[in-house]
Amino acid sequence: MKHSIQSKLPNVGTTIFTVMSALATKHNAINLGQGFPDFAMNEKLTGLVSEAMKSGNNQYVHMCGLPLLRERLAEKVNHDYGCNINPDSEITVTPGGTYAIYTAFTTILQPGDEVILFEPAYDSYVPNIEINGGVAIGIPLLYPDYAIDWKRVKEKVNSKTKAIIINTPHNPTGSVLSAEDIEQLRSIVKDTGIFIISDEVYEHLIFDQKEHLSMLRYPDLLERSFVCFSFGKVYHCTGWKLGYCIAPSEIMKEFRKVHQFNCFTCHSPTQYALAEFLTEKNQYLELGFFLQQKRDFFQSLMQQTRLKPLPSFGSYFQLYSYEGVSDDSEKDFAIKLTQEAGVATIPVSAFYKNPIDNKVLRFCFAKKEATLEVAVNRLIKYFN
Ligand code: PMP
Ligand code: GLN
Repeated sequence: MKHSIQSKLPNVGTTIFTVMSALATKHNAINLGQGFPDFAMNEKLTGLVSEAMKSGNNQYVHMCGLPLLRERLAEKVNHDYGCNINPDSEITVTPGGTYAIYTAFTTILQPGDEVILFEPAYDSYVPNIEINGGVAIGIPLLYPDYAIDWKRVKEKVNSKTKAIIINTPHNPTGSVLSAEDIEQLRSIVKDTGIFIISDEVYEHLIFDQKEHLSMLRYPDLLERSFVCFSFGKVYHCTGWKLGYCIAPSEIMKEFRKVHQFNCFTCHSPTQYALAEFLTEKNQYLELGFFLQQKRDFFQSLMQQTRLKPLPSFGSYFQLYSYEGVSDDSEKDFAIKLTQEAGVATIPVSAFYKNPIDNKVLRFCFAKKEATLEVAVNRLIKYFN
Protein backbone atom coordinates (compact mmCIF):
# COMPACT_ATOMS: atom_id res chain seq x y z
CA MET A 1 0.00 0.00 0.00
CA LYS A 2 1.26 3.50 -0.80
CA HIS A 3 2.01 5.66 2.20
CA SER A 4 -0.25 8.64 2.79
CA ILE A 5 -0.52 11.46 5.26
CA GLN A 6 -3.77 12.72 6.63
CA SER A 7 -2.69 16.33 6.97
CA LYS A 8 -2.93 17.85 10.41
CA LEU A 9 -2.99 21.27 8.76
CA PRO A 10 -5.00 20.73 5.56
CA ASN A 11 -5.64 24.43 4.98
CA VAL A 12 -2.11 25.65 5.52
CA GLY A 13 0.33 26.58 2.76
CA THR A 14 3.81 28.12 3.01
CA THR A 15 4.11 31.08 5.37
CA ILE A 16 3.80 34.49 3.68
CA PHE A 17 7.25 35.48 5.00
CA THR A 18 8.95 32.71 3.06
CA VAL A 19 6.81 33.33 -0.01
CA MET A 20 7.57 37.07 -0.13
CA SER A 21 11.27 36.65 0.70
CA ALA A 22 11.64 34.10 -2.12
CA LEU A 23 9.85 36.47 -4.50
CA ALA A 24 12.12 39.32 -3.38
CA THR A 25 15.20 37.22 -4.15
CA LYS A 26 13.81 36.16 -7.52
CA HIS A 27 13.14 39.75 -8.59
CA ASN A 28 16.13 41.30 -6.89
CA ALA A 29 13.78 43.42 -4.80
CA ILE A 30 14.61 45.25 -1.58
CA ASN A 31 13.08 43.06 1.10
CA LEU A 32 10.93 45.19 3.41
CA GLY A 33 8.65 42.18 3.84
CA GLN A 34 9.92 39.60 6.32
CA GLY A 35 10.85 41.24 9.61
CA PHE A 36 14.60 41.14 10.18
CA PRO A 37 17.27 43.83 10.55
CA ASP A 38 19.84 44.24 7.77
CA PHE A 39 22.33 46.04 10.04
CA ALA A 40 25.09 44.40 12.07
CA MET A 41 24.49 43.18 15.58
CA ASN A 42 26.67 44.17 18.53
CA GLU A 43 30.26 42.94 18.10
CA LYS A 44 30.78 42.50 21.81
CA LEU A 45 27.92 40.01 21.89
CA THR A 46 29.22 38.01 18.92
CA GLY A 47 32.64 38.12 20.61
CA LEU A 48 31.16 36.67 23.79
CA VAL A 49 29.66 33.80 21.80
CA SER A 50 33.05 33.05 20.20
CA GLU A 51 34.68 33.19 23.63
CA ALA A 52 32.09 30.80 25.06
CA MET A 53 32.76 28.36 22.21
CA LYS A 54 36.54 28.65 22.56
CA SER A 55 36.34 28.14 26.32
CA GLY A 56 34.56 24.85 25.75
CA ASN A 57 31.01 25.83 26.67
CA ASN A 58 29.62 23.65 23.92
CA GLN A 59 27.76 20.87 25.69
CA TYR A 60 24.14 20.58 26.81
CA VAL A 61 23.14 23.10 29.43
CA HIS A 62 20.28 22.49 31.87
CA MET A 63 17.07 21.55 30.02
CA CYS A 64 15.33 24.72 31.26
CA GLY A 65 18.21 26.97 30.19
CA LEU A 66 21.61 27.93 31.57
CA PRO A 67 21.00 28.70 35.28
CA LEU A 68 23.05 31.93 35.15
CA LEU A 69 21.04 33.15 32.16
CA ARG A 70 17.77 32.45 33.98
CA GLU A 71 19.05 34.31 37.03
CA ARG A 72 19.95 37.31 34.89
CA LEU A 73 16.55 37.18 33.19
CA ALA A 74 14.81 37.17 36.57
CA GLU A 75 16.87 40.27 37.50
CA LYS A 76 15.99 41.87 34.17
CA VAL A 77 12.23 41.43 34.46
CA ASN A 78 12.36 42.53 38.08
CA HIS A 79 14.13 45.71 36.97
CA ASP A 80 11.89 46.30 33.96
CA TYR A 81 8.48 45.23 35.28
CA GLY A 82 8.81 45.00 39.08
CA CYS A 83 7.95 41.30 39.29
CA ASN A 84 9.52 38.56 41.39
CA ILE A 85 10.18 35.58 39.19
CA ASN A 86 11.83 32.40 40.41
CA PRO A 87 14.58 31.58 37.89
CA ASP A 88 14.53 27.88 38.82
CA SER A 89 10.85 27.22 38.46
CA GLU A 90 9.32 30.01 36.39
CA ILE A 91 11.61 30.63 33.39
CA THR A 92 12.39 28.27 30.52
CA VAL A 93 14.78 29.16 27.71
CA THR A 94 13.34 28.15 24.34
CA PRO A 95 14.47 28.04 20.71
CA GLY A 96 12.68 31.32 19.92
CA GLY A 97 9.42 33.00 20.77
CA THR A 98 7.33 31.02 18.26
CA TYR A 99 8.34 27.78 19.94
CA ALA A 100 7.44 29.20 23.36
CA ILE A 101 3.96 30.09 22.07
CA TYR A 102 3.51 26.70 20.39
CA THR A 103 4.60 24.90 23.54
CA ALA A 104 2.18 26.96 25.64
CA PHE A 105 -0.70 25.91 23.36
CA THR A 106 0.41 22.27 23.42
CA THR A 107 0.55 22.44 27.22
CA ILE A 108 -3.00 23.65 27.75
CA LEU A 109 -5.19 22.69 24.78
CA GLN A 110 -7.56 19.72 24.60
CA PRO A 111 -9.60 18.99 21.45
CA GLY A 112 -12.42 21.50 21.02
CA ASP A 113 -10.95 24.14 23.34
CA GLU A 114 -11.40 27.64 22.01
CA VAL A 115 -8.69 30.30 21.84
CA ILE A 116 -9.55 33.93 21.25
CA LEU A 117 -7.11 35.85 19.08
CA PHE A 118 -7.12 39.27 17.50
CA GLU A 119 -6.76 39.61 13.75
CA PRO A 120 -4.61 40.53 11.96
CA ALA A 121 -2.60 38.03 14.02
CA TYR A 122 0.94 36.73 13.67
CA ASP A 123 0.61 33.88 11.22
CA SER A 124 1.76 31.03 13.46
CA TYR A 125 -1.05 31.40 16.01
CA VAL A 126 -3.92 29.75 14.12
CA PRO A 127 -1.92 26.70 12.93
CA ASN A 128 -0.43 26.38 16.45
CA ILE A 129 -3.93 26.24 17.90
CA GLU A 130 -5.38 23.93 15.25
CA ILE A 131 -2.57 21.38 15.30
CA ASN A 132 -3.31 21.01 19.01
CA GLY A 133 -6.99 20.31 18.35
CA GLY A 134 -8.07 23.78 19.42
CA VAL A 135 -10.48 26.12 17.68
CA ALA A 136 -9.22 29.60 16.78
CA ILE A 137 -11.82 32.30 17.40
CA GLY A 138 -10.61 35.35 15.47
CA ILE A 139 -11.86 38.79 16.46
CA PRO A 140 -10.99 41.57 14.00
CA LEU A 141 -9.14 44.56 15.42
CA LEU A 142 -10.94 47.81 14.60
CA TYR A 143 -9.51 49.40 11.46
CA PRO A 144 -7.71 51.83 11.13
CA ASP A 145 -6.40 52.02 14.73
CA TYR A 146 -6.48 48.26 15.22
CA ALA A 147 -7.97 48.65 18.69
CA ILE A 148 -9.47 45.63 20.46
CA ASP A 149 -13.26 45.44 20.38
CA TRP A 150 -13.74 44.33 24.00
CA LYS A 151 -17.51 44.11 23.60
CA ARG A 152 -16.96 41.44 20.93
CA VAL A 153 -14.51 39.65 23.22
CA LYS A 154 -17.10 39.49 26.02
CA GLU A 155 -19.64 38.06 23.55
CA LYS A 156 -17.21 35.36 22.41
CA VAL A 157 -16.12 34.14 25.86
CA ASN A 158 -17.91 30.93 26.87
CA SER A 159 -17.28 27.72 28.81
CA LYS A 160 -15.04 26.40 25.99
CA THR A 161 -12.72 29.45 26.04
CA LYS A 162 -9.36 28.11 27.19
CA ALA A 163 -7.10 31.04 26.39
CA ILE A 164 -6.76 34.51 24.95
CA ILE A 165 -3.58 35.30 23.01
CA ILE A 166 -2.41 38.89 23.02
CA ASN A 167 0.53 40.51 21.28
CA THR A 168 1.91 43.90 22.32
CA PRO A 169 3.61 45.71 20.59
CA HIS A 170 1.66 44.16 17.78
CA ASN A 171 2.79 42.50 14.60
CA PRO A 172 1.77 43.51 11.92
CA THR A 173 0.06 46.77 12.96
CA GLY A 174 2.45 48.38 15.48
CA SER A 175 -0.42 49.00 17.91
CA VAL A 176 0.22 48.65 21.67
CA LEU A 177 -2.06 47.73 24.54
CA SER A 178 -3.17 50.63 26.78
CA ALA A 179 -3.96 50.69 30.51
CA GLU A 180 -7.66 50.63 29.54
CA ASP A 181 -7.08 47.44 27.51
CA ILE A 182 -5.45 45.83 30.54
CA GLU A 183 -8.47 46.74 32.69
CA GLN A 184 -10.81 45.20 30.12
CA LEU A 185 -8.74 42.04 29.95
CA ARG A 186 -8.69 41.85 33.75
CA SER A 187 -12.43 42.14 34.05
CA ILE A 188 -12.99 39.48 31.38
CA VAL A 189 -10.67 36.79 32.81
CA LYS A 190 -11.46 37.46 36.49
CA ASP A 191 -13.14 34.44 38.10
CA THR A 192 -12.58 32.30 34.97
CA GLY A 193 -10.02 29.59 34.21
CA ILE A 194 -8.91 31.38 31.03
CA PHE A 195 -5.17 31.37 30.32
CA ILE A 196 -3.36 34.28 28.72
CA ILE A 197 -0.64 33.68 26.19
CA SER A 198 1.21 36.95 25.91
CA ASP A 199 3.47 37.43 22.92
CA GLU A 200 5.84 40.19 24.01
CA VAL A 201 8.71 39.63 21.59
CA TYR A 202 8.71 43.36 20.72
CA GLU A 203 8.75 44.48 24.40
CA HIS A 204 11.60 46.98 23.88
CA LEU A 205 10.60 48.11 20.39
CA ILE A 206 8.16 50.72 21.61
CA PHE A 207 8.00 54.39 20.62
CA ASP A 208 6.71 57.85 21.51
CA GLN A 209 7.31 57.41 25.25
CA LYS A 210 4.74 54.63 25.44
CA GLU A 211 5.27 52.05 28.16
CA HIS A 212 5.23 48.36 27.48
CA LEU A 213 2.39 46.91 29.56
CA SER A 214 3.77 43.44 30.14
CA MET A 215 1.63 40.79 31.81
CA LEU A 216 4.55 40.57 34.24
CA ARG A 217 3.42 43.86 35.81
CA TYR A 218 0.05 42.50 36.97
CA PRO A 219 0.09 39.63 39.51
CA ASP A 220 -3.58 38.78 38.84
CA LEU A 221 -2.87 38.39 35.11
CA LEU A 222 0.55 36.80 35.50
CA GLU A 223 -0.94 33.98 37.60
CA ARG A 224 -2.66 32.67 34.43
CA SER A 225 -0.08 33.73 31.82
CA PHE A 226 2.61 32.29 29.60
CA VAL A 227 4.70 35.35 28.73
CA CYS A 228 6.83 34.76 25.64
CA PHE A 229 9.99 36.65 24.60
CA SER A 230 12.65 36.49 21.88
CA PHE A 231 16.32 37.48 22.04
CA GLY A 232 16.28 37.74 18.24
CA LYS A 233 14.29 40.98 18.40
CA VAL A 234 16.25 42.50 21.28
CA TYR A 235 19.75 41.98 19.94
CA HIS A 236 19.23 42.07 16.15
CA CYS A 237 19.87 38.35 15.75
CA THR A 238 16.61 36.82 14.51
CA GLY A 239 18.57 33.86 13.13
CA TRP A 240 19.74 32.82 16.57
CA LYS A 241 16.23 31.58 17.36
CA LEU A 242 16.53 31.90 21.09
CA GLY A 243 13.86 33.12 23.48
CA TYR A 244 12.19 32.27 26.76
CA CYS A 245 8.87 31.78 28.46
CA ILE A 246 7.89 32.99 31.93
CA ALA A 247 4.95 31.41 33.74
CA PRO A 248 3.95 30.59 37.34
CA SER A 249 5.66 27.43 38.59
CA GLU A 250 2.68 25.05 38.50
CA ILE A 251 1.94 26.06 34.91
CA MET A 252 5.62 26.02 33.96
CA LYS A 253 5.91 22.48 35.30
CA GLU A 254 3.53 21.27 32.58
CA PHE A 255 5.17 23.46 29.91
CA ARG A 256 8.49 21.80 30.73
CA LYS A 257 7.02 18.32 30.29
CA VAL A 258 6.28 19.23 26.68
CA HIS A 259 9.55 21.08 26.16
CA GLN A 260 11.81 18.33 27.50
CA PHE A 261 10.76 15.80 24.86
CA ASN A 262 10.67 18.21 21.97
CA CYS A 263 13.72 20.43 22.22
CA PHE A 264 15.14 19.43 25.62
CA THR A 265 17.76 22.19 25.70
CA CYS A 266 18.88 25.13 23.53
CA HIS A 267 22.14 26.23 21.93
CA SER A 268 24.62 26.69 24.79
CA PRO A 269 27.34 29.20 23.75
CA THR A 270 24.74 31.88 23.02
CA GLN A 271 23.26 31.37 26.48
CA TYR A 272 26.64 31.95 28.15
CA ALA A 273 27.12 35.07 26.04
CA LEU A 274 23.64 36.45 26.72
CA ALA A 275 23.97 35.86 30.47
CA GLU A 276 26.96 38.19 30.39
CA PHE A 277 25.57 40.74 27.95
CA LEU A 278 22.20 41.14 29.70
CA THR A 279 23.89 43.07 32.50
CA GLU A 280 24.39 45.96 30.04
CA LYS A 281 20.86 47.26 30.38
CA ASN A 282 21.25 50.22 28.02
CA GLN A 283 21.76 47.81 25.13
CA TYR A 284 18.08 46.96 25.28
CA LEU A 285 16.66 50.01 27.03
CA GLU A 286 17.79 52.27 24.15
CA LEU A 287 16.35 50.03 21.48
CA GLY A 288 12.98 51.79 21.27
CA PHE A 289 14.66 55.12 20.58
CA PHE A 290 16.92 53.57 17.94
CA LEU A 291 13.99 52.02 16.07
CA GLN A 292 11.78 55.06 16.50
CA GLN A 293 14.39 57.03 14.56
CA LYS A 294 14.20 54.42 11.79
CA ARG A 295 10.39 54.61 11.76
CA ASP A 296 10.53 58.42 11.52
CA PHE A 297 13.19 58.34 8.81
CA PHE A 298 11.16 55.86 6.78
CA GLN A 299 7.95 57.83 7.25
CA SER A 300 9.61 61.06 6.14
CA LEU A 301 10.89 59.41 2.95
CA MET A 302 7.52 57.80 2.26
CA GLN A 303 5.81 61.21 2.26
CA GLN A 304 7.04 61.44 -1.31
CA THR A 305 4.77 58.56 -2.32
CA ARG A 306 0.99 58.41 -2.48
CA LEU A 307 0.79 55.76 0.21
CA LYS A 308 -0.75 56.82 3.54
CA PRO A 309 0.79 55.75 6.87
CA LEU A 310 -1.25 54.21 9.66
CA PRO A 311 -0.08 54.76 13.26
CA SER A 312 2.81 52.57 14.46
CA PHE A 313 3.77 52.75 18.12
CA GLY A 314 6.02 49.72 18.27
CA SER A 315 7.53 46.63 16.57
CA TYR A 316 9.59 46.69 13.36
CA PHE A 317 6.61 47.51 11.26
CA GLN A 318 4.71 50.33 9.62
CA LEU A 319 1.48 49.85 7.71
CA TYR A 320 0.65 51.90 4.63
CA SER A 321 -2.73 52.21 2.96
CA TYR A 322 -2.80 52.25 -0.84
CA GLU A 323 -6.49 53.05 -1.03
CA GLY A 324 -7.11 55.28 -4.03
CA VAL A 325 -3.80 54.19 -5.56
CA SER A 326 -4.82 50.74 -6.75
CA ASP A 327 -7.87 48.48 -6.65
CA ASP A 328 -5.71 45.36 -6.54
CA SER A 329 -6.08 42.97 -3.63
CA GLU A 330 -3.34 43.30 -1.01
CA LYS A 331 -1.75 40.07 -2.16
CA ASP A 332 -1.77 41.05 -5.85
CA PHE A 333 -0.49 44.53 -5.05
CA ALA A 334 2.34 43.17 -2.87
CA ILE A 335 3.36 40.80 -5.67
CA LYS A 336 3.16 43.58 -8.24
CA LEU A 337 5.32 45.93 -6.14
CA THR A 338 7.91 43.20 -5.71
CA GLN A 339 7.99 42.32 -9.41
CA GLU A 340 7.57 45.75 -10.94
CA ALA A 341 8.83 48.28 -8.36
CA GLY A 342 11.48 46.04 -6.80
CA VAL A 343 10.23 46.41 -3.21
CA ALA A 344 8.84 43.47 -1.22
CA THR A 345 6.23 43.99 1.51
CA ILE A 346 3.70 41.78 3.31
CA PRO A 347 -0.05 41.91 2.56
CA VAL A 348 -1.86 42.33 5.89
CA SER A 349 -4.66 40.04 4.68
CA ALA A 350 -2.21 37.16 5.20
CA PHE A 351 -2.66 37.64 8.96
CA TYR A 352 -6.36 36.66 8.91
CA LYS A 353 -7.92 33.23 8.90
CA ASN A 354 -10.68 34.61 6.67
CA PRO A 355 -8.84 37.42 4.93
CA ILE A 356 -10.08 40.99 5.31
CA ASP A 357 -8.67 43.27 2.63
CA ASN A 358 -8.35 46.90 3.80
CA LYS A 359 -5.75 47.70 1.12
CA VAL A 360 -2.84 47.92 3.52
CA LEU A 361 0.70 46.60 3.25
CA ARG A 362 3.24 46.00 6.01
CA PHE A 363 6.72 47.48 5.62
CA CYS A 364 9.66 46.50 7.84
CA PHE A 365 11.75 49.60 8.66
CA ALA A 366 14.42 47.79 10.72
CA LYS A 367 16.93 48.48 7.95
CA LYS A 368 19.96 50.65 7.26
CA GLU A 369 19.05 54.16 6.12
CA ALA A 370 20.64 53.42 2.74
CA THR A 371 18.35 50.40 2.27
CA LEU A 372 15.27 52.45 3.12
CA GLU A 373 16.37 55.20 0.75
CA VAL A 374 16.85 52.85 -2.19
CA ALA A 375 13.50 51.16 -1.50
CA VAL A 376 11.55 54.43 -1.28
CA ASN A 377 13.27 55.83 -4.39
CA ARG A 378 12.10 52.77 -6.26
CA LEU A 379 8.55 53.33 -5.01
CA ILE A 380 8.61 57.01 -5.97
CA LYS A 381 9.80 56.11 -9.46
CA TYR A 382 7.16 53.42 -9.78
CA PHE A 383 4.24 55.58 -8.71
CA ASN A 384 5.22 58.62 -10.84
N1 PMP B 1 5.73 36.64 17.64
C1 PMP B 1 5.73 37.66 16.79
C2 PMP B 1 4.59 38.60 16.79
C3 PMP B 1 6.78 37.83 15.90
O1 PMP B 1 6.77 38.82 15.02
C4 PMP B 1 7.86 36.93 15.95
C5 PMP B 1 8.98 37.15 15.01
N2 PMP B 1 9.32 36.14 14.24
C6 PMP B 1 7.80 35.88 16.87
C7 PMP B 1 6.72 35.77 17.70
C8 PMP B 1 8.83 34.82 17.01
O2 PMP B 1 10.08 35.11 17.22
P1 PMP B 1 11.23 34.00 17.12
O3 PMP B 1 11.94 34.26 15.86
O4 PMP B 1 12.02 34.20 18.34
O5 PMP B 1 10.54 32.66 17.11
N1 GLN C 1 8.45 37.79 12.68
C1 GLN C 1 8.91 38.07 11.38
C2 GLN C 1 7.84 38.83 10.62
O1 GLN C 1 6.75 39.01 11.09
C3 GLN C 1 9.33 36.89 10.54
C4 GLN C 1 9.17 35.56 11.10
C5 GLN C 1 9.18 34.48 10.07
O2 GLN C 1 9.70 34.63 8.99
N2 GLN C 1 8.57 33.39 10.41
O3 GLN C 1 8.12 39.22 9.53
